[in-house]
Amino acid sequence: MTETKYTATIGLEIHAELKVATKMFCNCKNDPDEKRPNVNVCPVCTAQPGTLPVLNKKAIEHVIRVGLASGSDIAGFTEWDRKNYFYPDIPKGYQISQYKYPLVANGAINGVKLTRIHLEEDTARSTHDKGDFSLVDFNRGGVALMELVTEPVIHDAKTAGNFARELQLLLQYLGAGDANMEKGEMRVEANVSVSKDPKKFGTKVEVKNLNSFRTVEKAIEYEIERHIETIEVGGKIVQETRGWDEAKQKTFSQRLKESSHDYRYFPDPDIPKMMVPEVFDLKKLKADLPELPWQRREKYLKFGVKAEDAESYVGDRTLGDFFEKVSADFAGDAELVKTASNYVSSDLVGLLSKDKNLKYPDHKYFAEIIKMFKAGDLSSRGAKDLIARILKDNVDPRKIAEKEGLIQKSDEGELKTIIEKLVKENPKVVADYRGGKQASLQFFVGQVMKITKGSANPQAIMKVILEVLK
Ligand code: ADP
Ligand code: ZN
Ligand code: MG
Repeated sequence: MTETKYTATIGLEIHAELKVATKMFCNCKNDPDEKRPNVNVCPVCTAQPGTLPVLNKKAIEHVIRVGLASGSDIAGFTEWDRKNYFYPDIPKGYQISQYKYPLVANGAINGVKLTRIHLEEDTARSTHDKGDFSLVDFNRGGVALMELVTEPVIHDAKTAGNFARELQLLLQYLGAGDANMEKGEMRVEANVSVSKDPKKFGTKVEVKNLNSFRTVEKAIEYEIERHIETIEVGGKIVQETRGWDEAKQKTFSQRLKESSHDYRYFPDPDIPKMMVPEVFDLKKLKADLPELPWQRREKYLKFGVKAEDAESYVGDRTLGDFFEKVSADFAGDAELVKTASNYVSSDLVGLLSKDKNLKYPDHKYFAEIIKMFKAGDLSSRGAKDLIARILKDNVDPRKIAEKEGLIQKSDEGELKTIIEKLVKENPKVVADYRGGKQASLQFFVGQVMKITKGSANPQAIMKVILEVLK
Protein backbone atom coordinates (compact mmCIF):
# COMPACT_ATOMS: atom_id res chain seq x y z
CA MET A 1 0.00 0.00 0.00
CA THR A 2 1.12 3.50 -0.73
CA GLU A 3 0.95 6.43 1.66
CA THR A 4 -0.85 8.64 -0.82
CA LYS A 5 -4.52 9.27 -0.26
CA TYR A 6 -6.78 9.62 -3.25
CA THR A 7 -10.15 11.31 -3.36
CA ALA A 8 -12.72 9.70 -5.62
CA THR A 9 -15.50 11.88 -7.03
CA ILE A 10 -18.72 10.63 -8.55
CA GLY A 11 -21.59 12.40 -10.28
CA LEU A 12 -24.64 10.54 -11.55
CA GLU A 13 -26.84 11.02 -14.57
CA ILE A 14 -30.06 9.03 -14.31
CA HIS A 15 -32.78 8.58 -16.90
CA ALA A 16 -36.19 7.37 -15.79
CA GLU A 17 -39.27 6.64 -17.87
CA LEU A 18 -42.35 8.34 -16.49
CA LYS A 19 -45.64 6.65 -15.73
CA VAL A 20 -47.94 8.24 -18.25
CA ALA A 21 -50.58 6.71 -20.51
CA THR A 22 -49.27 8.32 -23.70
CA LYS A 23 -45.97 9.46 -25.18
CA MET A 24 -44.40 12.88 -24.52
CA PHE A 25 -45.58 14.68 -27.66
CA CYS A 26 -48.30 12.51 -29.23
CA ASN A 27 -51.25 10.29 -28.36
CA CYS A 28 -49.45 6.98 -28.90
CA LYS A 29 -49.75 4.52 -26.06
CA ASN A 30 -46.80 4.37 -23.69
CA ASP A 31 -46.56 0.67 -22.98
CA PRO A 32 -43.16 -0.62 -21.81
CA ASP A 33 -44.56 -4.18 -21.81
CA GLU A 34 -45.59 -4.17 -25.48
CA LYS A 35 -43.74 -7.03 -27.15
CA ARG A 36 -44.81 -6.46 -30.77
CA PRO A 37 -42.45 -3.99 -32.47
CA ASN A 38 -43.68 -0.75 -34.05
CA VAL A 39 -47.32 -0.87 -33.00
CA ASN A 40 -47.33 2.25 -30.85
CA VAL A 41 -46.29 4.68 -33.57
CA CYS A 42 -47.92 7.62 -35.35
CA PRO A 43 -46.97 10.40 -37.77
CA VAL A 44 -45.88 12.67 -34.86
CA CYS A 45 -43.43 10.34 -33.12
CA THR A 46 -42.05 9.09 -36.43
CA ALA A 47 -41.53 12.74 -37.45
CA GLN A 48 -43.57 12.88 -40.64
CA PRO A 49 -43.40 16.30 -42.32
CA GLY A 50 -46.13 18.69 -41.26
CA THR A 51 -46.87 17.08 -37.90
CA LEU A 52 -46.84 19.03 -34.65
CA PRO A 53 -45.87 17.90 -31.15
CA VAL A 54 -48.26 18.45 -28.22
CA LEU A 55 -46.96 18.49 -24.63
CA ASN A 56 -47.93 15.76 -22.17
CA LYS A 57 -49.06 17.72 -19.11
CA LYS A 58 -48.99 14.73 -16.77
CA ALA A 59 -45.32 14.04 -17.56
CA ILE A 60 -44.42 17.63 -16.69
CA GLU A 61 -46.40 17.33 -13.46
CA HIS A 62 -44.47 14.18 -12.49
CA VAL A 63 -41.14 15.97 -12.88
CA ILE A 64 -42.39 18.98 -10.93
CA ARG A 65 -43.50 16.67 -8.09
CA VAL A 66 -40.08 14.99 -8.00
CA GLY A 67 -38.64 18.50 -7.79
CA LEU A 68 -40.98 19.54 -4.97
CA ALA A 69 -40.27 16.33 -3.03
CA SER A 70 -36.51 16.89 -3.28
CA GLY A 71 -36.75 20.51 -2.11
CA SER A 72 -35.69 21.81 -5.52
CA ASP A 73 -36.44 25.06 -7.29
CA ILE A 74 -39.18 24.78 -9.90
CA ALA A 75 -38.52 26.84 -12.99
CA GLY A 76 -40.64 29.95 -13.41
CA PHE A 77 -40.03 29.69 -17.12
CA THR A 78 -39.19 26.71 -19.26
CA GLU A 79 -38.89 25.73 -22.89
CA TRP A 80 -37.98 22.73 -25.00
CA ASP A 81 -34.94 22.47 -27.24
CA ARG A 82 -33.90 20.45 -30.23
CA LYS A 83 -30.73 18.44 -29.67
CA ASN A 84 -29.49 17.73 -33.17
CA TYR A 85 -27.64 14.55 -34.09
CA PHE A 86 -28.06 11.74 -36.54
CA TYR A 87 -28.84 8.21 -35.47
CA PRO A 88 -31.39 5.66 -36.75
CA ASP A 89 -33.22 5.63 -33.38
CA ILE A 90 -34.22 9.32 -33.67
CA PRO A 91 -36.36 9.72 -36.77
CA LYS A 92 -36.54 13.52 -36.44
CA GLY A 93 -32.78 13.95 -36.72
CA TYR A 94 -33.01 15.61 -33.33
CA GLN A 95 -34.23 14.74 -29.86
CA ILE A 96 -36.55 17.12 -28.04
CA SER A 97 -35.00 17.90 -24.66
CA GLN A 98 -34.52 20.80 -22.27
CA TYR A 99 -31.20 22.53 -22.37
CA LYS A 100 -31.10 26.05 -21.04
CA TYR A 101 -34.19 26.04 -18.85
CA PRO A 102 -34.63 22.71 -17.05
CA LEU A 103 -37.89 22.29 -15.14
CA VAL A 104 -36.12 21.58 -11.85
CA ALA A 105 -32.82 22.58 -10.23
CA ASN A 106 -30.87 22.69 -6.97
CA GLY A 107 -32.59 20.14 -4.77
CA ALA A 108 -31.11 17.23 -2.85
CA ILE A 109 -31.91 13.58 -2.23
CA ASN A 110 -30.17 11.66 0.57
CA GLY A 111 -27.93 14.68 1.05
CA VAL A 112 -26.68 14.49 -2.55
CA LYS A 113 -27.11 17.79 -4.34
CA LEU A 114 -29.02 17.79 -7.60
CA THR A 115 -27.85 19.94 -10.48
CA ARG A 116 -31.03 19.64 -12.50
CA ILE A 117 -33.95 17.50 -13.59
CA HIS A 118 -35.36 17.97 -17.05
CA LEU A 119 -37.75 16.28 -19.46
CA GLU A 120 -36.98 14.82 -22.83
CA GLU A 121 -38.17 12.10 -25.18
CA ASP A 122 -36.71 8.62 -25.21
CA THR A 123 -35.07 7.23 -28.31
CA ALA A 124 -36.34 4.18 -30.18
CA ARG A 125 -34.86 0.79 -29.37
CA SER A 126 -32.23 -0.56 -31.76
CA THR A 127 -31.13 -4.15 -32.03
CA HIS A 128 -27.73 -4.83 -33.59
CA ASP A 129 -27.04 -8.46 -32.81
CA LYS A 130 -29.34 -10.28 -35.27
CA GLY A 131 -27.05 -10.37 -38.28
CA ASP A 132 -25.39 -7.91 -40.65
CA PHE A 133 -28.29 -5.51 -40.28
CA SER A 134 -29.90 -3.52 -37.47
CA LEU A 135 -33.52 -3.35 -36.38
CA VAL A 136 -35.33 -0.35 -34.91
CA ASP A 137 -38.48 -0.55 -32.80
CA PHE A 138 -40.17 2.85 -32.47
CA ASN A 139 -42.55 1.88 -29.65
CA ARG A 140 -40.20 3.56 -27.17
CA GLY A 141 -39.40 6.51 -29.47
CA GLY A 142 -40.92 9.67 -28.04
CA VAL A 143 -41.77 8.22 -24.62
CA ALA A 144 -41.54 10.74 -21.74
CA LEU A 145 -38.15 10.51 -20.09
CA MET A 146 -36.87 12.34 -17.04
CA GLU A 147 -33.17 13.07 -16.74
CA LEU A 148 -31.68 13.84 -13.35
CA VAL A 149 -28.09 15.06 -12.95
CA THR A 150 -26.30 15.23 -9.62
CA GLU A 151 -23.45 17.50 -8.67
CA PRO A 152 -20.05 15.78 -8.41
CA VAL A 153 -20.38 15.41 -4.64
CA ILE A 154 -20.43 11.65 -4.10
CA HIS A 155 -17.20 10.00 -2.93
CA ASP A 156 -17.90 6.30 -2.70
CA ALA A 157 -19.74 3.57 -4.57
CA LYS A 158 -22.19 2.69 -1.80
CA THR A 159 -23.48 6.28 -1.55
CA ALA A 160 -23.99 6.32 -5.31
CA GLY A 161 -25.90 3.03 -5.19
CA ASN A 162 -28.03 4.24 -2.31
CA PHE A 163 -28.83 7.47 -4.13
CA ALA A 164 -30.15 5.47 -7.08
CA ARG A 165 -32.14 3.21 -4.73
CA GLU A 166 -33.69 6.22 -3.04
CA LEU A 167 -34.59 7.83 -6.36
CA GLN A 168 -36.30 4.61 -7.45
CA LEU A 169 -38.33 4.60 -4.22
CA LEU A 170 -39.19 8.27 -4.63
CA LEU A 171 -40.48 7.74 -8.18
CA GLN A 172 -42.53 4.77 -7.00
CA TYR A 173 -43.94 6.61 -3.96
CA LEU A 174 -44.92 9.54 -6.18
CA GLY A 175 -46.44 7.24 -8.78
CA ALA A 176 -44.15 8.99 -11.26
CA GLY A 177 -42.52 5.81 -12.53
CA ASP A 178 -41.92 2.13 -11.83
CA ALA A 179 -38.18 2.71 -12.33
CA ASN A 180 -37.49 -0.98 -12.81
CA MET A 181 -33.80 -1.12 -13.70
CA GLU A 182 -33.90 -4.59 -15.23
CA LYS A 183 -36.60 -3.42 -17.63
CA GLY A 184 -34.54 -0.35 -18.51
CA GLU A 185 -37.16 1.98 -17.01
CA MET A 186 -34.37 3.57 -14.98
CA ARG A 187 -30.84 3.83 -16.40
CA VAL A 188 -27.82 5.04 -14.49
CA GLU A 189 -24.63 6.58 -15.85
CA ALA A 190 -21.80 7.12 -13.39
CA ASN A 191 -19.11 9.76 -13.88
CA VAL A 192 -16.02 8.85 -11.93
CA SER A 193 -12.73 10.63 -11.31
CA VAL A 194 -9.90 10.25 -8.86
CA SER A 195 -7.48 12.88 -7.63
CA LYS A 196 -4.56 13.14 -5.23
CA ASP A 197 -5.45 16.73 -4.47
CA PRO A 198 -8.90 16.81 -2.83
CA LYS A 199 -9.38 20.40 -4.02
CA LYS A 200 -8.95 19.46 -7.67
CA PHE A 201 -10.91 17.08 -9.86
CA GLY A 202 -9.17 14.36 -11.82
CA THR A 203 -10.11 13.41 -15.36
CA LYS A 204 -13.57 11.87 -15.42
CA VAL A 205 -14.75 8.75 -17.13
CA GLU A 206 -18.39 8.02 -17.81
CA VAL A 207 -19.69 4.48 -17.33
CA LYS A 208 -22.94 3.76 -19.18
CA ASN A 209 -25.56 1.03 -19.27
CA LEU A 210 -25.56 0.13 -15.62
CA ASN A 211 -28.75 -1.86 -15.19
CA SER A 212 -28.80 -2.80 -11.52
CA PHE A 213 -27.90 -1.12 -8.25
CA ARG A 214 -25.17 -3.70 -7.61
CA THR A 215 -23.72 -3.03 -11.05
CA VAL A 216 -23.65 0.72 -10.34
CA GLU A 217 -21.62 0.05 -7.19
CA LYS A 218 -19.33 -2.55 -8.74
CA ALA A 219 -18.56 -0.44 -11.80
CA ILE A 220 -17.71 2.58 -9.65
CA GLU A 221 -15.49 0.49 -7.34
CA TYR A 222 -13.78 -0.98 -10.38
CA GLU A 223 -13.18 2.44 -11.94
CA ILE A 224 -11.82 3.99 -8.73
CA GLU A 225 -9.32 1.17 -8.43
CA ARG A 226 -8.40 1.31 -12.12
CA HIS A 227 -7.78 5.07 -11.91
CA ILE A 228 -5.60 4.75 -8.81
CA GLU A 229 -3.58 1.90 -10.28
CA THR A 230 -3.09 3.81 -13.53
CA ILE A 231 -1.97 6.97 -11.74
CA GLU A 232 0.31 4.98 -9.40
CA VAL A 233 2.36 3.61 -12.29
CA GLY A 234 2.60 7.05 -13.87
CA GLY A 235 -0.14 6.48 -16.43
CA LYS A 236 -2.81 8.92 -17.55
CA ILE A 237 -6.59 8.56 -17.38
CA VAL A 238 -8.24 9.53 -20.65
CA GLN A 239 -11.68 11.06 -20.77
CA GLU A 240 -13.92 8.44 -22.33
CA THR A 241 -17.18 6.54 -22.20
CA ARG A 242 -16.97 3.02 -20.84
CA GLY A 243 -19.38 0.12 -20.56
CA TRP A 244 -19.74 -2.62 -17.97
CA ASP A 245 -18.99 -6.23 -18.88
CA GLU A 246 -21.09 -8.31 -16.50
CA ALA A 247 -19.35 -11.57 -17.40
CA LYS A 248 -15.85 -10.21 -16.80
CA GLN A 249 -16.92 -7.85 -13.97
CA LYS A 250 -14.91 -5.12 -15.66
CA THR A 251 -15.49 -1.85 -17.45
CA PHE A 252 -14.30 -1.53 -21.04
CA SER A 253 -13.66 1.43 -23.32
CA GLN A 254 -16.53 2.26 -25.67
CA ARG A 255 -15.52 5.54 -27.19
CA LEU A 256 -13.12 8.35 -26.49
CA LYS A 257 -14.66 11.73 -25.78
CA GLU A 258 -14.91 13.35 -29.20
CA SER A 259 -13.91 17.00 -29.09
CA SER A 260 -17.09 18.04 -27.27
CA HIS A 261 -20.10 17.18 -29.43
CA ASP A 262 -21.87 20.14 -30.98
CA TYR A 263 -25.58 19.40 -30.81
CA ARG A 264 -26.58 22.83 -32.12
CA TYR A 265 -29.30 23.16 -29.50
CA PHE A 266 -32.02 25.66 -30.25
CA PRO A 267 -35.55 26.16 -28.85
CA ASP A 268 -38.13 24.02 -30.62
CA PRO A 269 -40.34 26.50 -32.49
CA ASP A 270 -43.26 24.05 -32.56
CA ILE A 271 -43.64 23.78 -28.77
CA PRO A 272 -45.02 26.62 -26.65
CA LYS A 273 -42.72 28.10 -24.02
CA MET A 274 -44.19 27.90 -20.57
CA MET A 275 -44.56 30.06 -17.47
CA VAL A 276 -44.71 27.04 -15.15
CA PRO A 277 -46.59 28.57 -12.15
CA GLU A 278 -49.30 29.80 -14.52
CA VAL A 279 -49.98 26.28 -15.73
CA PHE A 280 -49.42 24.33 -12.51
CA ASP A 281 -50.66 25.05 -9.00
CA LEU A 282 -47.32 24.45 -7.26
CA LYS A 283 -48.67 25.08 -3.75
CA LYS A 284 -51.35 22.46 -4.20
CA LEU A 285 -48.96 19.97 -5.79
CA LYS A 286 -46.63 20.40 -2.83
CA ALA A 287 -49.41 20.05 -0.27
CA ASP A 288 -50.64 16.89 -1.98
CA LEU A 289 -47.30 15.07 -1.93
CA PRO A 290 -47.59 11.65 -0.28
CA GLU A 291 -45.40 10.47 2.59
CA LEU A 292 -41.87 10.22 1.14
CA PRO A 293 -39.39 7.35 1.54
CA TRP A 294 -37.11 9.20 3.94
CA GLN A 295 -40.07 10.35 6.03
CA ARG A 296 -41.20 6.75 6.34
CA ARG A 297 -37.70 5.61 7.26
CA GLU A 298 -37.41 8.20 10.01
CA LYS A 299 -40.82 7.28 11.39
CA TYR A 300 -39.92 3.59 11.64
CA LEU A 301 -36.56 4.30 13.22
CA LYS A 302 -38.40 6.37 15.83
CA PHE A 303 -40.49 3.28 16.56
CA GLY A 304 -37.20 1.75 17.72
CA VAL A 305 -37.02 -1.03 15.11
CA LYS A 306 -33.75 -2.29 13.63
CA ALA A 307 -32.37 -0.25 10.73
CA GLU A 308 -32.61 -3.18 8.33
CA ASP A 309 -36.24 -3.79 9.32
CA ALA A 310 -37.03 -0.11 8.77
CA GLU A 311 -35.41 -0.38 5.33
CA SER A 312 -37.59 -3.33 4.37
CA TYR A 313 -40.72 -1.39 5.45
CA VAL A 314 -39.61 1.56 3.33
CA GLY A 315 -38.88 -0.69 0.35
CA ASP A 316 -42.14 -2.64 0.62
CA ARG A 317 -44.96 -0.31 1.53
CA THR A 318 -47.53 -3.11 1.93
CA LEU A 319 -45.28 -4.70 4.51
CA GLY A 320 -44.64 -1.33 6.19
CA ASP A 321 -48.35 -0.57 6.33
CA PHE A 322 -49.02 -3.97 7.88
CA PHE A 323 -46.33 -3.49 10.52
CA GLU A 324 -47.75 -0.06 11.32
CA LYS A 325 -51.27 -1.41 11.76
CA VAL A 326 -50.00 -4.19 14.04
CA SER A 327 -48.05 -1.65 16.10
CA ALA A 328 -51.05 0.63 16.42
CA ASP A 329 -52.58 -2.07 18.63
CA PHE A 330 -49.83 -1.76 21.23
CA ALA A 331 -50.59 1.70 22.62
CA GLY A 332 -46.97 2.77 22.39
CA ASP A 333 -45.48 -0.23 24.22
CA ALA A 334 -41.97 -0.18 22.71
CA GLU A 335 -41.17 -3.76 23.69
CA LEU A 336 -44.26 -5.09 21.93
CA VAL A 337 -43.44 -2.99 18.85
CA LYS A 338 -39.88 -4.34 18.68
CA THR A 339 -41.03 -7.92 19.17
CA ALA A 340 -43.67 -7.47 16.47
CA SER A 341 -41.02 -6.10 14.13
CA ASN A 342 -38.86 -9.19 14.68
CA TYR A 343 -41.72 -11.54 13.86
CA VAL A 344 -42.85 -9.43 10.88
CA SER A 345 -39.41 -9.16 9.31
CA SER A 346 -38.40 -12.78 9.88
CA ASP A 347 -41.43 -15.08 10.10
CA LEU A 348 -44.05 -13.18 8.14
CA VAL A 349 -41.68 -12.13 5.34
CA GLY A 350 -40.13 -15.59 5.19
CA LEU A 351 -43.44 -17.39 4.95
CA LEU A 352 -44.96 -14.99 2.41
CA SER A 353 -41.94 -15.26 0.13
CA LYS A 354 -41.90 -19.05 0.30
CA ASP A 355 -45.56 -19.74 -0.43
CA LYS A 356 -47.55 -17.67 -2.89
CA ASN A 357 -50.84 -19.03 -1.49
CA LEU A 358 -50.29 -17.34 1.86
CA LYS A 359 -51.80 -13.90 2.45
CA TYR A 360 -51.42 -11.05 4.88
CA PRO A 361 -53.67 -11.90 7.84
CA ASP A 362 -55.87 -9.54 9.81
CA HIS A 363 -53.38 -7.28 11.62
CA LYS A 364 -55.37 -7.67 14.83
CA TYR A 365 -54.73 -11.42 14.79
CA PHE A 366 -51.01 -10.84 14.32
CA ALA A 367 -50.94 -8.31 17.17
CA GLU A 368 -52.81 -10.79 19.37
CA ILE A 369 -50.09 -13.43 18.86
CA ILE A 370 -47.39 -10.93 19.82
CA LYS A 371 -49.32 -9.95 22.95
CA MET A 372 -49.86 -13.60 23.92
CA PHE A 373 -46.17 -14.34 23.42
CA LYS A 374 -45.03 -11.34 25.45
CA ALA A 375 -47.49 -12.23 28.24
CA GLY A 376 -45.89 -15.66 28.48
CA ASP A 377 -49.02 -17.42 27.24
CA LEU A 378 -47.22 -18.70 24.15
CA SER A 379 -43.79 -20.20 23.62
CA SER A 380 -41.68 -18.84 20.77
CA ARG A 381 -42.44 -22.07 18.89
CA GLY A 382 -46.14 -21.61 19.56
CA ALA A 383 -46.02 -18.04 18.26
CA LYS A 384 -44.29 -19.15 15.05
CA ASP A 385 -46.81 -21.94 14.49
CA LEU A 386 -49.73 -19.60 15.02
CA ILE A 387 -48.29 -17.03 12.62
CA ALA A 388 -48.04 -19.71 9.95
CA ARG A 389 -51.61 -20.68 10.75
CA ILE A 390 -53.16 -17.20 10.43
CA LEU A 391 -51.34 -16.60 7.13
CA LYS A 392 -53.04 -19.70 5.82
CA ASP A 393 -56.51 -19.41 7.34
CA ASN A 394 -56.78 -15.90 8.84
CA VAL A 395 -58.45 -17.26 12.00
CA ASP A 396 -58.54 -15.97 15.58
CA PRO A 397 -55.22 -17.19 17.01
CA ARG A 398 -56.41 -17.24 20.62
CA LYS A 399 -59.20 -19.67 19.74
CA ILE A 400 -56.78 -21.92 17.87
CA ALA A 401 -54.27 -21.77 20.73
CA GLU A 402 -56.90 -22.72 23.26
CA LYS A 403 -58.35 -25.48 21.12
CA GLU A 404 -54.95 -26.98 20.35
CA GLY A 405 -53.55 -26.59 23.84
CA LEU A 406 -50.84 -24.11 22.81
CA ILE A 407 -51.50 -21.79 25.74
CA GLN A 408 -48.72 -22.07 28.27
CA LYS A 409 -49.98 -22.43 31.83
CA SER A 410 -48.55 -19.77 34.05
CA ASP A 411 -51.26 -20.16 36.66
CA GLU A 412 -49.01 -20.50 39.68
CA GLY A 413 -51.71 -21.91 41.97
CA GLU A 414 -52.32 -24.80 39.62
CA LEU A 415 -48.58 -25.40 39.11
CA LYS A 416 -48.02 -25.32 42.86
CA THR A 417 -50.51 -28.15 43.45
CA ILE A 418 -48.80 -30.29 40.80
CA ILE A 419 -45.29 -29.56 42.10
CA GLU A 420 -46.11 -30.12 45.76
CA LYS A 421 -47.46 -33.53 44.82
CA LEU A 422 -44.30 -34.33 42.83
CA VAL A 423 -42.05 -33.26 45.69
CA LYS A 424 -43.90 -35.51 48.11
CA GLU A 425 -43.68 -38.49 45.72
CA ASN A 426 -39.96 -38.06 45.00
CA PRO A 427 -38.05 -37.57 48.27
CA LYS A 428 -34.81 -38.94 46.77
CA VAL A 429 -34.72 -36.30 44.01
CA VAL A 430 -35.36 -33.61 46.60
CA ALA A 431 -32.53 -34.96 48.73
CA ASP A 432 -30.19 -34.96 45.72
CA TYR A 433 -31.08 -31.32 45.05
CA ARG A 434 -30.50 -30.33 48.65
CA GLY A 435 -27.19 -32.21 48.45
CA GLY A 436 -26.13 -29.79 45.73
CA LYS A 437 -27.29 -31.54 42.54
CA GLN A 438 -28.81 -28.61 40.61
CA ALA A 439 -29.61 -30.80 37.63
CA SER A 440 -32.23 -32.71 39.56
CA LEU A 441 -34.53 -29.72 39.17
CA GLN A 442 -34.81 -30.63 35.50
CA PHE A 443 -36.53 -33.84 36.59
CA PHE A 444 -39.37 -31.79 38.07
CA VAL A 445 -39.61 -29.50 35.05
CA GLY A 446 -39.87 -32.56 32.83
CA GLN A 447 -42.55 -34.13 35.01
CA VAL A 448 -44.64 -30.95 35.08
CA MET A 449 -44.37 -30.67 31.29
CA LYS A 450 -45.56 -34.26 31.02
CA ILE A 451 -48.50 -33.73 33.32
CA THR A 452 -49.53 -30.48 31.61
CA LYS A 453 -48.93 -31.97 28.15
CA GLY A 454 -46.24 -29.37 27.41
CA SER A 455 -48.51 -26.42 28.00
CA ALA A 456 -46.80 -25.02 31.10
CA ASN A 457 -44.53 -22.00 30.85
CA PRO A 458 -40.99 -23.23 31.73
CA GLN A 459 -40.12 -19.98 33.53
CA ALA A 460 -43.24 -20.20 35.67
CA ILE A 461 -42.48 -23.86 36.52
CA MET A 462 -38.97 -23.04 37.66
CA LYS A 463 -40.19 -20.15 39.78
CA VAL A 464 -42.78 -22.31 41.58
CA ILE A 465 -40.35 -25.25 42.10
CA LEU A 466 -37.84 -22.96 43.81
CA GLU A 467 -40.59 -21.55 46.01
CA VAL A 468 -41.82 -25.02 47.01
CA LEU A 469 -38.32 -26.30 47.77
CA LYS A 470 -37.33 -23.29 49.85
P1 ADP B 1 -20.20 17.02 -19.40
O1 ADP B 1 -19.96 18.38 -19.89
O2 ADP B 1 -19.15 16.05 -19.76
O3 ADP B 1 -21.59 16.53 -19.67
P2 ADP B 1 -20.96 17.92 -16.79
O4 ADP B 1 -20.15 18.92 -16.07
O5 ADP B 1 -22.21 18.35 -17.44
O6 ADP B 1 -20.05 17.14 -17.81
O7 ADP B 1 -21.31 16.80 -15.75
C1 ADP B 1 -21.92 15.61 -16.12
C2 ADP B 1 -21.93 14.71 -14.91
O8 ADP B 1 -20.59 14.42 -14.52
C3 ADP B 1 -22.57 15.31 -13.68
O9 ADP B 1 -23.27 14.29 -13.00
C4 ADP B 1 -21.40 15.78 -12.85
O10 ADP B 1 -21.71 15.75 -11.48
C5 ADP B 1 -20.36 14.76 -13.17
N1 ADP B 1 -18.99 15.26 -13.07
C6 ADP B 1 -18.48 16.42 -13.54
N2 ADP B 1 -17.16 16.50 -13.29
C7 ADP B 1 -16.82 15.37 -12.63
C8 ADP B 1 -15.60 14.84 -12.10
N3 ADP B 1 -14.45 15.48 -12.22
N4 ADP B 1 -15.65 13.63 -11.51
C9 ADP B 1 -16.79 12.94 -11.41
N5 ADP B 1 -17.94 13.38 -11.89
C10 ADP B 1 -17.98 14.56 -12.50
ZN1 ZN C 1 -46.91 8.77 -31.72
MG1 MG D 1 -23.29 17.98 -19.33
